[in-house]
Amino acid sequence: MDKSLDSQIRAALFLWLSERFARNGGIFTRVELEREFFFEGKVVTLIGASGIWFPKGFDIPISITTTTKGLYPDKYENNMLRYSYQGDDFRNRFNVGLRKAFESKIPLVYFRAVVPGKYEALWPMIIKRDNPNELCIEADLAQVYVNEQFKTLEVSEVIDREYANATVKTRLHQPAFRFQVLKAYNDTCTLCGLKHPELLDAAHIIADSDPDGKPEVPNGLSLCKIHHVSYDKKIIGITPDYEIKVSDKVMKEKDGPMLTYGLQSMNGRKLILPSKKSDNPDRDKLKRRWDEFLEFAG
Ligand SMILES: [Zn+2]
Repeated sequence: MDKSLDSQIRAALFLWLSERFARNGGIFTRVELEREFFFEGKVVTLIGASGIWFPKGFDIPISITTTTKGLYPDKYENNMLRYSYQGDDFRNRFNVGLRKAFESKIPLVYFRAVVPGKYEALWPMIIKRDNPNELCIEADLAQVYVNEQFKTLEVSEVIDREYANATVKTRLHQPAFRFQVLKAYNDTCTLCGLKHPELLDAAHIIADSDPDGKPEVPNGLSLCKIHHVSYDKKIIGITPDYEIKVSDKVMKEKDGPMLTYGLQSMNGRKLILPSKKSDNPDRDKLKRRWDEFLEFAG
């Protein structure tokens, strides 16, 4: 395929991913990745039978995918992905394709399954190293700009590595975290029982930036928007025994129904817990937040 056409398709793809990302919370279904991205009226498949995927007519892969049951020990650590070759022959066409992407700095998309058939997407993924001896590639985030006028890609080296790492970390973890937390709580606010996924967040008990703040279900709470902010702003506290406490100051206020029903009536209730015990919020983490609440409120 002509290089400029390849670049135009990738540019269009990155815009498409950004738009979808904003709408679907960053989780893509296999069906939409197979059927819903079009370029000049034709479907371009973004995912396929092999983990290293070339849509029809492509010489360089468009994506790499990790499944939930991966055959290969792919690793994503310190914002560096180690992705295994397909098979053990570094000359097969899949591995040659990855090598070409590496040599020409062509950006790919990384799809990682969160459950079978659902993926989070990370892009643009630039291959930083090719390791034929270890049968893997290593990829990192580079800065890729979509030139709006020409709809082409311009790749440059990462300027602010820390910023880029923080961004990629957030982008990589949040959609999967939200998906798993909401699923554990059956799309229900753990405080008030509201069941509107579009009004629900996956709140961290210990913040993402803290070493203990891993994006795992026991460090999460499914909270509606108002209760998420109330928890973060210490209007509401949660004891390690899953009891809800509204701050004394707010309990004394008088106002309309949002204050009465939305906040004050939560005082003394118990959390609505996930169906699986192993998904319950971690008591030690809740204790840390509860101590902060007491300190703030007292
Ligand atoms: Zn709520």
